[in-house]
Amino acid sequence: MATTNWLTGDNMKYTLINKLNYKIYNNQLYIKREDLLPISFGGNKVRKALLFLEDIQRHGSDCIVTYGSSNSNHCRVIANIAASHGIPCYIISPIETKQITNNNKLVNLFGAKIITCKLSEVSRTIEIQLNELRSNGFNPYFIQGGGHGNLGTQAYVKVYKEILDYEKQSGIEFDYIFHASGTGTTQAGLISGNVIYESNKIIVGVSIARKNPYGSNIVIDSVNNYLKVLGKNFVNDNEVEFIDDYVLNGYGSYDSRVLKIIKDVLIKDSIPMDTTYTGKAFWGMQEYIKKHRITGKRILFIHTGGTPLFFDKLEEIIDEL
Ligand SMILES: *Cc1c(COP(=O)(O)O)cnc(C)c1O
Repeated sequence: MATTNWLTGDNMKYTLINKLNYKIYNNQLYIKREDLLPISFGGNKVRKALLFLEDIQRHGSDCIVTYGSSNSNHCRVIANIAASHGIPCYIISPIETKQITNNNKLVNLFGAKIITCKLSEVSRTIEIQLNELRSNGFNPYFIQGGGHGNLGTQAYVKVYKEILDYEKQSGIEFDYIFHASGTGTTQAGLISGNVIYESNKIIVGVSIARKNPYGSNIVIDSVNNYLKVLGKNFVNDNEVEFIDDYVLNGYGSYDSRVLKIIKDVLIKDSIPMDTTYTGKAFWGMQEYIKKHRITGKRILFIHTGGTPLFFDKLEEIIDEL
């Protein structure tokens, strides 16, 4: 095992909050740069992966099985961490239109074994893989797609605490937190933090794919599952702001408005965002702020990472007028 778990210490903090030059009405916009976390191009998957890594070591596991597209940020981060610790990594991946992206090039570079199957056979394929590894004397560790589950939620409870600590130390308090919401795990962590620390920020997850009620129900379930372990109750189901107005044509879709805002923020604030997650969510945030006529507030946008995806679309971003 490599000894590079210098990131996992509880007192290690990466606040990385800055004010943006980009303006939406007269609100004060801030950004939390999760994309700058110091391993594997950062992002929320790194936060989650570090907790999985601790858990892997606690269980004495010697290989990882996870699920997801080889294009995903999740698989890139898990494959990289596995490689850096000399742990074999198996990725069950639904058969997909073969697109060469920066993430799947990296996943291959890290030597992860990709096992493709039909979407309908994912859970069976995972079972088969886990059983095969066990019967060969391995102790596999399974990670759900996207790092979904209580440990993934836990990662963003910690981030919520970081934000509260930042507020205390800077005197700057946020009224709203916006971020790209996919599986809803990141949002579940932030909402759980809101409950646990008895804070009352409005947390708006801008869905990048899922529609309601499915999307918000998963967030609610994740919050309840997490709080149950702590013996706490989450009562205000209707306070979950998982908004599906900006998913366009679903996962991965975007248009010129998304490209334009990515270009603007890159130029004004020197911050890269991508078309699948952060750029699309930032655009959704702008639309939401306009629609609800939100003015004079302090708003924090969490940049959840995905830098390799920015480079996948660089030519289109350059060409956007
Ligand atoms: C996975 C991902 C998300 C969504 O996170 P969830 O916890 O699944 O909601 C947002 N942004 C980026 C860049 C991601 O890779």
